[in-house]
Amino acid sequence: MRRINPHKFQIATRGTSREINRQIALNLIHTHQPISRADLARLMGLRRGAVSLIINELLKDAAIFEGMTGEVRRGRKPTFLYIDSRGRSIVGVDIRVTRTYVMVTDRLCRPLVGPINFPTDHNPEKLVAELSKRIKQILADHSEVGDCDGVGVVVPGMVDQRTGRILNAPTLGWRDVDIVKSLAAATGLPIEIENSGNACALSQLWAGRGDAAVSDLVFVTVSEGVGVGIIAGGEVLRGRHNIAGEFGHVPLNIDGPRCSCGATGCWEAYISNLATLSRYFGRNLQEAKPIPAEIAAFTIEDLIARARAGDAKAATAIQSTARYLGLGLASIINAIDPTRIYVGGEITAAWDLIEPAVRDGLAERALTPAASNPDIRVVSATDYPRLRGAAALVAAPPFAAPAVA
Ligand SMILES: [Zn+2]
Repeated sequence: MRRINPHKFQIATRGTSREINRQIALNLIHTHQPISRADLARLMGLRRGAVSLIINELLKDAAIFEGMTGEVRRGRKPTFLYIDSRGRSIVGVDIRVTRTYVMVTDRLCRPLVGPINFPTDHNPEKLVAELSKRIKQILADHSEVGDCDGVGVVVPGMVDQRTGRILNAPTLGWRDVDIVKSLAAATGLPIEIENSGNACALSQLWAGRGDAAVSDLVFVTVSEGVGVGIIAGGEVLRGRHNIAGEFGHVPLNIDGPRCSCGATGCWEAYISNLATLSRYFGRNLQEAKPIPAEIAAFTIEDLIARARAGDAKAATAIQSTARYLGLGLASIINAIDPTRIYVGGEITAAWDLIEPAVRDGLAERALTPAASNPDIRVVSATDYPRLRGAAALVAAPPFAAPAVA
């Protein structure tokens, strides 16, 4: 599923197939809405008449609608085109190690209801039972959101896109687990599933602010684990075995701390929330099972608050994570060299404190001066990148580029 770049597409011509022109128009409306017919024709490089044919078809299919907007002082009021998301909804689900989040969005992945959350049962059958109950409840309680197009689920693990099976989710302890069939049966809705890092990357491609969309990007999400999603040429990079982008399990030091995947010294074992808290408490919490109660209740947000209040140990723990984060980002740049890197996760609430150390760590390993100063954007947790990415799994396919032989 590839996204057409709304800023750099092959200019539409009379010779371009109808299907491709239709998808270009749909993507331009998605990116620029509200947009007038005249502006759409200008962006597409087509005559008004040719664009009208495409628009009429999209209107007939209820993919878009035409409405008034803005203030026009005099003359005929132009009508504007919008993606039609009225009366349709999508459910986004984010399964995380400790809690599972559910949010209802429209077809543009904009939040409508929630998120609500509940504890994650690590038994897949029990989790599916609870999750389907919650999904049915939230849709029943909010009939105003309209008919549900489907459920997008993201998990902290590698997913086989062909079968929908979860191949390996280290922090959940799941290997070769299927939840798609049982969740579809229990909810009666179509289910899409994706790795959380990939979903975050998709959220920027499909659900981000239109003007900011780029076709080559990496999203690094730092939380219980480390998820990385790569978009190259408008498409998720999956690799032969659906494990491409697992930078979280690239070693920084083979003699380093134990990681959730079973190996030692992975990047994740240096920058996950638990790794940062381990440094603060002076003990390896990644190997402590169960985590002592007094520590389990202490969050990365608490640590950041202490650092801001002048706790030197808290500040040191966070600055170490920042340096390791930068070192790992340098590996990503040296491997992928993306146009933009997005960073999400709880630690980004301290971005003002950590950015210099992140950039210093990155510069240590950068191979050229230009590569040492990449375009890094922080995505706040309140932007819900995982949940919007989950919704995009259902919302995006109608906008995807047609497969051309
Ligand atoms: Zn690992």
